[in-house]
Amino acid sequence: MPKPLMETYSPPKETFVSGEGVYLFDQNGDKYLDFIAGIAVNALGHRHPKAVQALKDQADKLWHTSNMFRVPGQIELAEKYCRDSFADRVFFTNSGTEAMECALKAARHYWYSRGRPDKYRIVTFTGAFHGRSYGAINAGGNPKYLEGFGPRMEGFDQVEFGDHDALKAAITEETAAICVEPVQGEGGVRAIPDVCLRGLRELCDERELLLIYDEVQSGAGRTGKLWAHQWAGSAQPDIMAVAKGVGGGFPMGACLATDACGEHMVVGTHGSTFGGNPLAMAVGNVVYDELTKPGFLDHVNEVANFLGQQLQGLKDSHSDKVEEVRGRGLLLGLKLREGYVNKTLAKHARDHHLLMGAAGDNVLRMAPPLIIEEAHARQAVEALDAALSELKPG
Ligand SMILES: *Cc1c(COP(=O)(O)O)cnc(C)c1O
Repeated sequence: MPKPLMETYSPPKETFVSGEGVYLFDQNGDKYLDFIAGIAVNALGHRHPKAVQALKDQADKLWHTSNMFRVPGQIELAEKYCRDSFADRVFFTNSGTEAMECALKAARHYWYSRGRPDKYRIVTFTGAFHGRSYGAINAGGNPKYLEGFGPRMEGFDQVEFGDHDALKAAITEETAAICVEPVQGEGGVRAIPDVCLRGLRELCDERELLLIYDEVQSGAGRTGKLWAHQWAGSAQPDIMAVAKGVGGGFPMGACLATDACGEHMVVGTHGSTFGGNPLAMAVGNVVYDELTKPGFLDHVNEVANFLGQQLQGLKDSHSDKVEEVRGRGLLLGLKLREGYVNKTLAKHARDHHLLMGAAGDNVLRMAPPLIIEEAHARQAVEALDAALSELKPG
């Protein structure tokens, strides 16, 4: 067998060729319940009619001009993002990693433009994931992702997740910002308590630091609020990276910032050929309008509560294998006990035509489309119950 692809992934044998709502279909026409949604991406499910129509209409008009010309859809979507959030300024990207790169650059440039180029260090947390570029793997600090790629990049300090004293000790005169995911996804579906997010905001105010949220996974309605940090009320960031769900499956992301953090990002400081292209903006606008239409997030919260309860029940009946139910809204995880392997459980679930993912810390990750109904949650829990029963140690 020739191997034309770099083997950076090890996909299972099932190959999917079409989708409809919360279901995927493989080459044989077999139907699978999609409870991972391209890792929290297909927020509106597959082939959402309005998103399909918007993409088709735009495809018939204009695909691309690059950012050397104004893209009207960008202004429309940026106005919506700013209307409903802390932000005043937006930069559009193609991915979460790029949104994070823009966030890190904006934070450093904020201090640079105030005559403090020495203030460039960024504090992050263990278990963080911010993407796979050089900047992002260094910010994420995961040794597995750094190994083999040369010297560590200067300017990142990592502290133990939840260790408040270590956090305070890590802050110096050179610290520019603290960067955190309100719900760690890749790191094991760990939600930061609201009180801790508010504490982070206060700490940043006290020590004159910027607060960066990576809401690439936790945003776009995933937790039942438009952005996960909004559960914590006053704990607003200065800069925020978003992606995944905001494009509903079309590759796009954005870096959102306050005026103070965005106004100095002027001509020459940053750029992207594809970021915010007309196709992405056509879909991004539809996705945002759906997420923010009356009742949409109420539905997410209702179905998430139901699913959460069902999973607690599952944990109780398989307490020898499941240690904990984690997460928030429709970003949920089952932490398995030592000796049991999350990826093996995901495989058993797949055998029952249920698609789920794995995350760090031996967690089975689920992030279904936000449009699931109670019946889908029930169906998933039944399949997962069977998969757990089959799960053997090792
Ligand atoms: C997925 C993810 C990223 C990276 O996004 P890509 O689109 O894969 O580049 C960054 N941060 C978080 C929290 C993520 O979950």
